[in-house]
Amino acid sequence: MLTCKQLVENSSDYLDARLSLRGRLSVRLHLAMCFRCRRFIRQMKLSQAVIQRMPEAPIAELDALAEKLARQQQSRR
Ligand SMILES: [Zn+2]
Repeated sequence: MLTCKQLVENSSDYLDARLSLRGRLSVRLHLAMCFRCRRFIRQMKLSQAVIQRMPEAPIAELDALAEKLARQQQSRR
């Protein structure tokens, strides 16, 4: 079983699909059991999406956009 620290260390590889099947499995297993890491991964995904969409945007705008996206996601549930 991964620790939260190991999960954070693996998170960018996980999001870029660079982990082995075994590695992905242990990340998903941890996420299924750990609310804090689920939230962490969700925010990582969110900021990745924002960065991919707006590579040149200044940080303040990125923050505002991430906040907006987060609110949209929450209201969809
Ligand atoms: Zn965790």
